[in-house]
Amino acid sequence: MTTVPLLRTEIPGPRSRELHAQREAAVAAGFGITLPVFIARAGTSTLEDVDGNTLIDLASGIAVTSVGAANPQVRANVAAQLELFTHTCFMVTEYEGFVRVAEWLNQHIPGDFEKRTALFSTGAEAVENAVKIARAHTGRPAVLVIDEAYHGRSLLTMAMTAKEHPYKTSFGPFPDAVVRAPNANPLRGEGAEPALAEVERLIVEHGREYFAALVVEPIQGEGGFVVPAPGFLRGLRRIADEYGIVLVVDEIQSGLGRTGRLFASEHEGVAGDITLTAKALGGGLPLSAVTGRSDIMDAAHPGGLGGTYAGNPLACAAALAVFDALDEPGLLPRVAGIEQTIRRHLEPLLTEIDAVAEVRGRGAMMAVEFADPGTLAPRSDLAQRIAAACHAAGVLALTCGTHGNVIRLLPPLVIEEPVLNAGLEILVASIRSVAAEEAAA
Ligand code: PMP
Repeated sequence: MTTVPLLRTEIPGPRSRELHAQREAAVAAGFGITLPVFIARAGTSTLEDVDGNTLIDLASGIAVTSVGAANPQVRANVAAQLELFTHTCFMVTEYEGFVRVAEWLNQHIPGDFEKRTALFSTGAEAVENAVKIARAHTGRPAVLVIDEAYHGRSLLTMAMTAKEHPYKTSFGPFPDAVVRAPNANPLRGEGAEPALAEVERLIVEHGREYFAALVVEPIQGEGGFVVPAPGFLRGLRRIADEYGIVLVVDEIQSGLGRTGRLFASEHEGVAGDITLTAKALGGGLPLSAVTGRSDIMDAAHPGGLGGTYAGNPLACAAALAVFDALDEPGLLPRVAGIEQTIRRHLEPLLTEIDAVAEVRGRGAMMAVEFADPGTLAPRSDLAQRIAAACHAAGVLALTCGTHGNVIRLLPPLVIEEPVLNAGLEILVASIRSVAAEEAAA
C-alpha cells in the first residue's frame, strides 16, 4: 500500500496560505503560480510542504529534477564542490567540471561528427546563443521556427515562442527576422508532407540566403507535448541540408532521458547540427548547453560567447551526477515502463470520455488533450478543473498547450511504480469526476 499522497490539511494548508500572502506583498505580480504551496523538502518523487502534506510530484519542476529533487549523488557532488569553491567565472579562470560536462555532452548528443559545447545557465540563453552561433557560421540573419513552439522568455526567444498569452502580451516589440512555419500536429490532421512543403516555400520566398537557423523541439513542450507526424524531423533535416541552414534541435524539455532515449530526436534518427540541453542537465541547478558540429560552434570568435555564471562549478558538479544516473543501464528501460504505466491508466479513457481527445507522448513525457469530439475545439476549462482536482488531492500535475487544454505528466524518471500508480489513479478519478459533472450540467 502506498502512503502518498499524505494530506494533513487541505491544499494549500494554513502555513502555505500565510506564506503566499507574504509573497504577494514582496514578489512581482508577473510570476504566475500553478499550486500556491510552499515546499519544505523533497523525496525521490514526492514533495513535502510546510504544512506537513506529502504530494506526488508529476511535474519534476517542469522536467528538471529527472533524477529526483533530492538525489543523493547530486547533493553529494554539489556539497563536495561547495567545500572547494562556488565560482570563478569560466571566462576568468578555468575548472575541470566545465570540461567534463562538455565532454559527456559531445560524446552522447546525436551526430557522428566532432563536437564542441558551450555552457550557459538557462534554456533561453542556450537558444539565444545557438542563434548567435548559427548567424556567425552562416553570415545570415533569420530564424525559422515552428508553430506552437516554446523557446523561452527573453526578447529573442519570446519572438520565437508561438503562444501570445501569457508569454508575449504587452512585451513587444520583438526582434524581427523570426519566421514561423506550420507544425505537423497529427491530432489536428497536419501531416508531415504539407508542413514540410510550407517550410520549403517559406525558405524560397524569403531567399536562400535569409535563414541562419531552423529551430525545432523534437517533441513540443509548453506547446502541448505534440509528437510531430513521423517524417517531419527527418524532412526538416533534409531541408536544412539542402539550403545550408543550421538545424537546431531544442531538447531542453525532451532531452536527457525524458522520452526513454537519451535524446528525443533519436526516436526519429535525426541529429541536429546543434542540440540544446538545459532543465534536467543541472539536476536542479541552473545549467544549459549548446552542443554542435565543431566547425559551426567555433564560428563564434573568442570572447563572443559566455556569461558571468555560464557553466557554474556547482551546476557542473550536479550535472556529472546526473550523467552517472543516465549512464546506469537500468534507467532508460525504466522510462519506457513509465510510458506503459501511464498508457495503461489513461488510454481506456479515450473510449470512455468524449472530451479525452488524445493520449500522447513518449517515455516520461506524456500528455492527455481535452477537446470537443468532432470539432476538436480545445477544452481548457476541463484541463484546468482536472488539474485543480489533482492538486486538491495531493498530486502535482501541470497543464500545457497553446490553448491550455492539455494535462502533461513529467514525473521524475526515478519515480517508484507504486507512487506513479497512486498519482495516476488520482488523475483518472479527477478526469472521471469532472467529466461526470460536465455530463450532469
Ligand atoms: N526551450 C524549451 C523546449 C523549453 O521547454 C524551455 C522551458 N520551458 C525553454 C526553451 C526555456 O528554458 P528556460 O526556462 O530555462 O529559459
